[in-house]
Amino acid sequence: MTALYLKKDRERPVLRGHPWIFSGAVERSEGDINEVGVADVFDYKKNWLARGLYNPKSQLVVRLLTWKKDPIDREFFIRQLKRAVDFRGAYFSPATDAYRIVNGEGDFLPGLIVDRYGDYLVCQLFTAGIELFKDDIIAALTELTQPSGIYERSEGRVRREEGLTDSVGALAGEAPPELITIQENSHKLLVDIRAGQKTGFFLDQRDNRAFLATLAHDKSVLNCCSYTGGFSVYAFTAGAKGVVTFDSSHPALEIAEKNLELNGVAETKRELIKGDAFAYLKESDQTFDVIVLDPPSLAHKRSDVDAATGGYKFLNMHALKRLNPGGTLLTFSCSQHLPADLFQKVVFGAAVDAGRKATILARLGAPPDHPVSLHHPEGEYLKGLALRVLD
Ligand code: SAH
Repeated sequence: MTALYLKKDRERPVLRGHPWIFSGAVERSEGDINEVGVADVFDYKKNWLARGLYNPKSQLVVRLLTWKKDPIDREFFIRQLKRAVDFRGAYFSPATDAYRIVNGEGDFLPGLIVDRYGDYLVCQLFTAGIELFKDDIIAALTELTQPSGIYERSEGRVRREEGLTDSVGALAGEAPPELITIQENSHKLLVDIRAGQKTGFFLDQRDNRAFLATLAHDKSVLNCCSYTGGFSVYAFTAGAKGVVTFDSSHPALEIAEKNLELNGVAETKRELIKGDAFAYLKESDQTFDVIVLDPPSLAHKRSDVDAATGGYKFLNMHALKRLNPGGTLLTFSCSQHLPADLFQKVVFGAAVDAGRKATILARLGAPPDHPVSLHHPEGEYLKGLALRVLD
């Protein structure tokens, strides 16, 4: 066990439930200070504040798990995971068998993401602290959800910052098939959990795909940055006249084609285009009744935000120009560093530059299986606007 004493006046965020302690806030550490493990956090007067997982190699030196004196052990993880699993059970029907089971800080389990795809689970363990409890977490998930298999996709920048290498592969049970068929609001969709983006699919856009379905009947639709065509499938099922599915990733479009076929879209109606959205939106002169614009995160860190706003503005301006009079734009940003109010300002600037007047029909975000801790607003990454242009 390690004890960390915070500098004077640095206890306030902890008292308010924020789960992150940066190394700069720590006055001194005692105990097993060179080892990853459980740590107690105290204020400068030695009052106990909270308990979490410590990694001396990370700038984010502790991620807090509890503000009570709970032991951090197998039982603790079983309790937390059971709470997360039970709450999802209340939200989902047999029409939807793919959803997020654990959303990191949003489930008071920083460093852990677990998605369910039918009978399989996909885990991402992002921190050295959570890795210590990997076996307990896998055992608890197995007991709670009885999956056919659990697959790991622990990759990327956060792990490198934690001093960890990537870890990908089957963790428990059967190895998953190459493509898993999931049900989402009764649509069948194929997911590549081994090599797809994120854990295989953008579960966070589920409710927004359903929202598109309410607008798509008899409309021409552009699904720009489509990934595996989720929005396109919903648009077709809702009776869209035509849908262009556009992405820069060849593997994503291959699955998109299969998804359209699986949902009964005739070959002649499947219009898939591979390219760069920046060039396509600027150069094409085709117009649409509805455009979904869901680019990848353009700001990976705070210092990227200025450049990213330029990118979002460019894409939105050209998308607005491609809309027919009275048309609708569903526009998104999944960048955690771009807050919703700034995103709205960027889209406003884009409308002014495009010479279009628009109204906001709805503000869009991630569904309830991606909860955001009120104490950790940084967890709110996906934001969107549904805009109708006047003429
Ligand atoms: N809307 C999708 C998720 C989109 S994620 C869904 O509901 O599943 C962002 C997508 O943008 C990814 O599929 C990625 O391959 C694609 N992408 C990244 N850069 C791009 C670019 N410059 N032009 C077009 N697509 C791009």
